[in-house]
Amino acid sequence: MQKERVSDNVYWFQSDVYAQVTAGVIIGPQWAVLIDTLMPEETPEIKSYIEDELMVPVRYVVNTHHHADHCWGNCIFPNATVIGHELCRELMLTRSQSALAESSKENPLFRSLCIKEPQITIAQGSLFLRIGKKHIKVFATPGHSEDGVSVLLEDDRILFSGDAYMPIPYFVGGDIDVLTNTITEIGNMGLENIIQGHGDVVLRGEIEEVTTSHLDYLKSVRKLVKAAHRRRDPLGFLRSQSVEDSGKTRISMGGLAQDLHIRNLQWLYLTELKKLKEESDE
Ligand SMILES: [Zn+2]
Repeated sequence: MQKERVSDNVYWFQSDVYAQVTAGVIIGPQWAVLIDTLMPEETPEIKSYIEDELMVPVRYVVNTHHHADHCWGNCIFPNATVIGHELCRELMLTRSQSALAESSKENPLFRSLCIKEPQITIAQGSLFLRIGKKHIKVFATPGHSEDGVSVLLEDDRILFSGDAYMPIPYFVGGDIDVLTNTITEIGNMGLENIIQGHGDVVLRGEIEEVTTSHLDYLKSVRKLVKAAHRRRDPLGFLRSQSVEDSGKTRISMGGLAQDLHIRNLQWLYLTELKKLKEESDE
Protein backbone atom coordinates (compact mmCIF):
# COMPACT_ATOMS: atom_id res chain seq x y z
CA MET A 1 0.00 0.00 0.00
CA GLN A 2 1.26 3.51 -0.84
CA LYS A 3 0.82 6.25 1.73
CA GLU A 4 1.33 10.00 1.30
CA ARG A 5 0.58 13.24 3.08
CA VAL A 6 -1.61 15.49 0.90
CA SER A 7 -2.00 18.48 3.20
CA ASP A 8 -1.92 19.26 6.94
CA ASN A 9 -3.54 16.29 8.67
CA VAL A 10 -4.72 14.81 5.38
CA TYR A 11 -3.31 11.53 4.08
CA TRP A 12 -3.94 9.40 1.06
CA PHE A 13 -3.54 5.65 0.53
CA GLN A 14 -3.29 3.70 -2.71
CA SER A 15 -3.68 -0.04 -3.11
CA ASP A 16 -0.85 -2.21 -4.42
CA VAL A 17 -3.26 -5.13 -4.65
CA TYR A 18 -6.16 -3.99 -6.81
CA ALA A 19 -6.55 -1.37 -9.57
CA GLN A 20 -4.76 1.42 -7.70
CA VAL A 21 -7.90 1.97 -5.60
CA THR A 22 -7.51 4.79 -3.06
CA ALA A 23 -8.65 5.81 0.40
CA GLY A 24 -7.97 8.89 2.52
CA VAL A 25 -8.04 10.14 6.06
CA ILE A 26 -8.54 13.49 7.75
CA ILE A 27 -6.99 13.65 11.20
CA GLY A 28 -8.59 15.83 13.87
CA PRO A 29 -7.43 16.59 17.41
CA GLN A 30 -9.48 13.77 18.93
CA TRP A 31 -10.67 11.56 16.10
CA ALA A 32 -10.34 10.89 12.39
CA VAL A 33 -12.61 10.63 9.36
CA LEU A 34 -11.68 7.84 6.98
CA ILE A 35 -12.82 7.98 3.37
CA ASP A 36 -13.18 4.49 1.88
CA THR A 37 -11.38 1.39 3.10
CA LEU A 38 -9.33 -0.39 0.32
CA MET A 39 -8.87 -4.17 0.14
CA PRO A 40 -8.96 -6.64 3.05
CA GLU A 41 -5.15 -7.10 2.84
CA GLU A 42 -4.67 -3.36 3.34
CA THR A 43 -7.42 -2.06 5.62
CA PRO A 44 -5.68 -3.33 8.80
CA GLU A 45 -2.54 -1.42 7.72
CA ILE A 46 -4.59 1.80 7.39
CA LYS A 47 -6.17 1.19 10.77
CA SER A 48 -2.86 0.64 12.50
CA TYR A 49 -1.32 3.73 10.84
CA ILE A 50 -4.17 5.98 12.02
CA GLU A 51 -4.87 4.47 15.42
CA ASP A 52 -1.39 3.30 16.52
CA GLU A 53 0.96 5.77 14.82
CA LEU A 54 -1.14 8.93 14.60
CA MET A 55 -2.94 7.87 17.80
CA VAL A 56 -6.50 8.89 16.97
CA PRO A 57 -9.51 6.60 16.63
CA VAL A 58 -11.52 6.53 13.41
CA ARG A 59 -14.90 7.98 14.38
CA TYR A 60 -16.50 8.20 10.94
CA VAL A 61 -16.02 6.24 7.72
CA VAL A 62 -17.43 7.89 4.60
CA ASN A 63 -18.19 5.46 1.77
CA THR A 64 -17.98 7.17 -1.62
CA HIS A 65 -20.15 4.34 -3.07
CA HIS A 66 -21.12 0.74 -2.47
CA HIS A 67 -18.45 -1.04 -4.57
CA ALA A 68 -16.43 -3.69 -2.70
CA ASP A 69 -13.00 -2.12 -3.19
CA HIS A 70 -14.19 1.05 -1.46
CA CYS A 71 -16.28 -0.09 1.48
CA TRP A 72 -16.00 -3.71 2.47
CA GLY A 73 -13.40 -2.74 5.06
CA ASN A 74 -16.05 -0.84 7.10
CA CYS A 75 -16.36 -3.70 9.58
CA ILE A 76 -12.67 -3.41 10.51
CA PHE A 77 -13.76 -0.20 12.29
CA PRO A 78 -16.49 -1.55 14.59
CA ASN A 79 -16.71 1.64 16.66
CA ALA A 80 -16.95 4.01 13.69
CA THR A 81 -20.19 5.40 12.29
CA VAL A 82 -20.52 4.92 8.53
CA ILE A 83 -21.74 7.77 6.34
CA GLY A 84 -22.90 7.34 2.74
CA HIS A 85 -25.67 7.96 0.27
CA GLU A 86 -29.11 6.54 1.07
CA LEU A 87 -28.79 4.42 -2.11
CA CYS A 88 -25.40 3.16 -0.94
CA ARG A 89 -27.11 1.83 2.19
CA GLU A 90 -29.86 0.25 0.10
CA LEU A 91 -27.43 -1.35 -2.36
CA MET A 92 -25.24 -2.70 0.42
CA LEU A 93 -28.28 -4.19 2.16
CA THR A 94 -29.62 -5.82 -1.00
CA ARG A 95 -26.53 -6.77 -3.04
CA SER A 96 -23.35 -6.78 -1.00
CA GLN A 97 -24.11 -9.77 1.23
CA SER A 98 -24.31 -12.24 -1.66
CA ALA A 99 -21.39 -10.57 -3.47
CA LEU A 100 -19.25 -10.98 -0.34
CA ALA A 101 -20.21 -14.66 -0.06
CA GLU A 102 -19.19 -15.10 -3.72
CA SER A 103 -15.83 -13.31 -3.24
CA SER A 104 -15.11 -15.33 -0.08
CA LYS A 105 -15.16 -18.51 -2.14
CA GLU A 106 -12.28 -17.20 -4.28
CA ASN A 107 -10.29 -15.26 -1.69
CA PRO A 108 -10.24 -16.51 1.93
CA LEU A 109 -9.26 -13.02 3.14
CA PHE A 110 -12.82 -11.86 2.41
CA ARG A 111 -14.13 -14.38 4.95
CA SER A 112 -12.95 -12.13 7.77
CA LEU A 113 -15.16 -9.30 6.48
CA CYS A 114 -18.82 -8.51 7.01
CA ILE A 115 -21.04 -5.89 5.40
CA LYS A 116 -21.52 -2.78 7.52
CA GLU A 117 -23.83 -0.38 5.71
CA PRO A 118 -24.04 3.42 6.24
CA GLN A 119 -25.94 4.49 9.35
CA ILE A 120 -25.98 8.20 8.52
CA THR A 121 -27.18 8.81 4.98
CA ILE A 122 -27.71 11.70 2.60
CA ALA A 123 -30.19 11.65 -0.26
CA GLN A 124 -30.26 15.27 -1.38
CA GLY A 125 -28.20 18.32 -0.56
CA SER A 126 -25.04 18.14 1.51
CA LEU A 127 -23.88 16.94 4.88
CA PHE A 128 -21.40 19.07 6.79
CA LEU A 129 -18.91 17.83 9.34
CA ARG A 130 -16.43 19.78 11.42
CA ILE A 131 -13.18 18.12 12.42
CA GLY A 132 -10.85 20.37 14.39
CA LYS A 133 -10.43 23.47 12.25
CA LYS A 134 -11.41 21.71 9.04
CA HIS A 135 -14.81 21.90 7.37
CA ILE A 136 -15.95 18.89 5.39
CA LYS A 137 -18.81 18.71 2.95
CA VAL A 138 -20.25 15.40 1.69
CA PHE A 139 -22.43 15.69 -1.40
CA ALA A 140 -23.77 13.53 -4.24
CA THR A 141 -21.60 12.99 -7.34
CA PRO A 142 -23.44 10.22 -9.22
CA GLY A 143 -22.76 8.71 -12.64
CA HIS A 144 -20.12 6.04 -12.01
CA SER A 145 -22.79 4.58 -9.78
CA GLU A 146 -26.10 6.09 -8.69
CA ASP A 147 -25.00 6.26 -5.03
CA GLY A 148 -21.76 8.22 -5.55
CA VAL A 149 -20.74 10.91 -3.07
CA SER A 150 -17.62 13.07 -2.82
CA VAL A 151 -15.95 14.61 0.21
CA LEU A 152 -14.75 18.20 -0.05
CA LEU A 153 -12.25 19.66 2.39
CA GLU A 154 -13.57 23.17 2.04
CA ASP A 155 -10.56 25.12 3.37
CA ASP A 156 -7.91 23.06 1.54
CA ARG A 157 -10.04 22.75 -1.66
CA ILE A 158 -9.20 19.04 -1.76
CA LEU A 159 -11.84 16.72 -3.15
CA PHE A 160 -12.09 13.00 -2.49
CA SER A 161 -14.12 12.24 -5.59
CA GLY A 162 -14.64 8.50 -5.27
CA ASP A 163 -14.92 6.96 -8.72
CA ALA A 164 -16.44 10.10 -10.26
CA TYR A 165 -12.81 10.66 -11.27
CA MET A 166 -10.56 7.74 -12.10
CA PRO A 167 -7.97 7.24 -14.86
CA ILE A 168 -10.67 6.02 -17.22
CA PRO A 169 -14.26 7.19 -16.56
CA TYR A 170 -16.36 4.09 -15.88
CA PHE A 171 -20.13 4.03 -15.84
CA VAL A 172 -21.20 0.35 -15.96
CA GLY A 173 -24.07 0.18 -13.48
CA GLY A 174 -24.29 3.98 -13.66
CA ASP A 175 -25.16 6.51 -16.35
CA ILE A 176 -22.91 8.19 -18.92
CA ASP A 177 -24.94 11.43 -19.06
CA VAL A 178 -25.04 11.78 -15.28
CA LEU A 179 -21.30 11.08 -15.09
CA THR A 180 -20.63 13.70 -17.78
CA ASN A 181 -22.47 16.31 -15.68
CA THR A 182 -20.66 15.30 -12.51
CA ILE A 183 -17.21 15.48 -14.17
CA THR A 184 -18.06 18.89 -15.67
CA GLU A 185 -19.17 20.21 -12.27
CA ILE A 186 -16.12 18.88 -10.44
CA GLY A 187 -13.84 20.31 -13.13
CA ASN A 188 -15.32 23.76 -12.44
CA MET A 189 -15.00 23.67 -8.65
CA GLY A 190 -11.66 25.47 -8.47
CA LEU A 191 -9.92 22.64 -6.63
CA GLU A 192 -6.37 22.29 -5.37
CA ASN A 193 -6.29 18.46 -5.61
CA ILE A 194 -8.61 15.71 -6.69
CA ILE A 195 -8.07 12.41 -4.90
CA GLN A 196 -9.50 10.06 -7.49
CA GLY A 197 -11.13 6.74 -6.51
CA HIS A 198 -8.36 4.98 -8.44
CA GLY A 199 -4.96 6.16 -9.69
CA ASP A 200 -2.83 9.11 -8.63
CA VAL A 201 -3.76 12.45 -7.10
CA VAL A 202 -4.70 15.06 -9.73
CA LEU A 203 -2.89 18.31 -8.97
CA ARG A 204 -4.30 21.80 -9.53
CA GLY A 205 -2.32 22.37 -12.74
CA GLU A 206 -3.58 19.08 -14.19
CA ILE A 207 -7.29 19.35 -13.39
CA GLU A 208 -8.32 21.15 -16.58
CA GLU A 209 -6.43 18.75 -18.85
CA VAL A 210 -7.67 15.66 -17.00
CA THR A 211 -11.28 16.91 -17.04
CA THR A 212 -11.13 17.65 -20.78
CA SER A 213 -9.59 14.23 -21.42
CA HIS A 214 -12.38 12.52 -19.40
CA LEU A 215 -15.10 14.42 -21.27
CA ASP A 216 -13.45 13.67 -24.63
CA TYR A 217 -13.27 9.99 -23.69
CA LEU A 218 -17.00 9.90 -22.92
CA LYS A 219 -17.72 11.65 -26.25
CA SER A 220 -15.64 9.05 -28.06
CA VAL A 221 -17.55 6.23 -26.33
CA ARG A 222 -20.88 7.73 -27.44
CA LYS A 223 -19.61 8.01 -31.01
CA LEU A 224 -18.41 4.39 -31.12
CA VAL A 225 -21.70 3.12 -29.75
CA LYS A 226 -23.61 5.18 -32.32
CA ALA A 227 -21.50 3.60 -35.04
CA ALA A 228 -22.06 0.12 -33.55
CA HIS A 229 -25.85 0.43 -33.98
CA ARG A 230 -25.29 0.57 -37.74
CA ARG A 231 -23.00 -2.50 -37.85
CA ARG A 232 -24.01 -6.08 -38.60
CA ASP A 233 -22.10 -7.33 -35.54
CA PRO A 234 -22.30 -4.42 -33.09
CA LEU A 235 -20.82 -6.23 -30.08
CA GLY A 236 -17.96 -7.67 -32.15
CA PHE A 237 -17.24 -4.16 -33.47
CA LEU A 238 -17.18 -2.78 -29.92
CA ARG A 239 -14.98 -5.61 -28.63
CA SER A 240 -12.37 -4.76 -31.27
CA GLN A 241 -11.93 -1.17 -30.03
CA SER A 242 -8.73 -0.07 -28.38
CA VAL A 243 -8.75 2.28 -25.40
CA GLU A 244 -5.86 4.27 -26.92
CA ASP A 245 -8.10 5.27 -29.84
CA SER A 246 -10.39 6.90 -27.28
CA GLY A 247 -7.49 8.86 -25.80
CA LYS A 248 -6.70 6.80 -22.70
CA THR A 249 -3.75 4.58 -21.86
CA ARG A 250 -4.19 0.86 -21.25
CA ILE A 251 -1.58 0.65 -18.50
CA SER A 252 -3.57 2.66 -15.96
CA MET A 253 -5.39 0.98 -13.08
CA GLY A 254 -3.08 -1.97 -12.93
CA GLY A 255 -3.75 -2.82 -16.58
CA LEU A 256 -7.56 -2.87 -16.26
CA ALA A 257 -8.20 0.13 -18.53
CA GLN A 258 -8.74 -1.76 -21.79
CA ASP A 259 -11.16 -4.14 -20.11
CA LEU A 260 -13.10 -1.27 -18.52
CA HIS A 261 -13.27 0.46 -21.90
CA ILE A 262 -14.90 -2.55 -23.56
CA ARG A 263 -17.33 -2.92 -20.67
CA ASN A 264 -18.30 0.77 -20.98
CA LEU A 265 -18.98 0.32 -24.70
CA GLN A 266 -21.05 -2.83 -24.22
CA TRP A 267 -23.01 -1.34 -21.34
CA LEU A 268 -23.95 1.80 -23.27
CA TYR A 269 -24.85 -0.18 -26.39
CA LEU A 270 -27.05 -2.65 -24.49
CA THR A 271 -28.69 0.13 -22.44
CA GLU A 272 -29.57 2.02 -25.62
CA LEU A 273 -30.80 -1.16 -27.29
CA LYS A 274 -33.09 -1.87 -24.34
CA LYS A 275 -34.48 1.67 -24.52
CA LEU A 276 -35.12 1.33 -28.28
CA LYS A 277 -36.94 -1.95 -27.73
CA GLU A 278 -39.10 -0.48 -24.97
CA GLU A 279 -39.99 2.45 -27.22
CA SER A 280 -40.97 0.18 -30.12
CA ASP A 281 -43.05 -2.02 -27.79
CA GLU A 282 -45.13 0.96 -26.66
ZN1 LIG B 1 -16.63 1.90 -8.09
